Amino acid sequence: MAKGRIVVDESRCKGCALCTTACPQDILFLAAERLNARGYHPVELIDRQSKCTGCALCAMMCPDAAITVYRFKVAPHPKVFAGNYAM
Ligand code: SF4
Ligand code: SF4
Repeated sequence: MAKGRIVVDESRCKGCALCTTACPQDILFLAAERLNARGYHPVELIDRQSKCTGCALCAMMCPDAAITVYRFKVAPHPKVFAGNYAM
């Protein structure tokens, strides 16, 4: 099972929201109360439930290469496979 995390280079973000609509987990939002140095509301990740899968759709959609995606594997919980083994 893959999990992910993204880092947004806010100085490059122009608040176009292409990434927010692309994200299948719906965890990207424009920061309504903040502006970056260019005067745009930058995108931010709000992922309290660790839903990001590292799919990178957001980074692929971004025309300004403002998003870096980190993807890592998460070991499944042992109980998930408990029924598969004869004891
Ligand atoms: S990597 Fe995928 S799941 Fe994570 S924020 Fe980007 S589009 Fe959403
Ligand atoms: S697609 Fe890129 S420029 Fe547009 S809001 Fe997302 S991070 Fe910012």
